[in-house]
Amino acid sequence: MNHFFVTVGLIVHYVAYNGTCLAAIIIGINEDGSVDLALFTSMKNVNGDKNFGMQFHQNIAYDEEKKPGTFHNINICAESWE
Ligand SMILES: [Zn+2]
Repeated sequence: MNHFFVTVGLIVHYVAYNGTCLAAIIIGINEDGSVDLALFTSMKNVNGDKNFGMQFHQNIAYDEEKKPGTFHNINICAESWE
């Protein structure tokens, strides 16, 4: 794992059930190294209109393999625009 500082308020990616990265903010850090997240969905990433908006997820593990239900550093996914 690359060295990665986490703190409350940091923006990270949460991986949705379909593998899509969603914007999330760390709102808590747990003793086991997992985090609690407030995350934001867009219409194309959810099943139906009712899930659109903000969600809260607890005890989310870090995973650079981007398995659904985990979080990672957004720099892994950042693209260079020219
Ligand atoms: Zn990502």
